[in-house]
Amino acid sequence: MENNQDCAVFQDLYELYIDCELEPETMEWMREHEMGCMYCINKSQTKIVNVPLSEDFEKIKTIRILTVLLYGSFAALSLWMSVWYFW
Ligand SMILES: [Zn+2]
Repeated sequence: MENNQDCAVFQDLYELYIDCELEPETMEWMREHEMGCMYCINKSQTKIVNVPLSEDFEKIKTIRILTVLLYGSFAALSLWMSVWYFW
């Protein structure tokens, strides 16, 4: 059983640890904890996987394409209407 307080400290410092912004001793402690603690390994892996949010990114891309298409057809329609009007 791991010490929960160590895990809490690890989780708090994890982002700084990834960016190497900790004291060398703390970096060493973090690395040792990461190697020895399955809970924190799992937790940090899910954290990394959750960052890109690829599904949301795909949705935003689709919405953007739809918006461009909508504006495009609006522009084409208004152009067609004005041509029709001046004919
Ligand atoms: Zn831990």
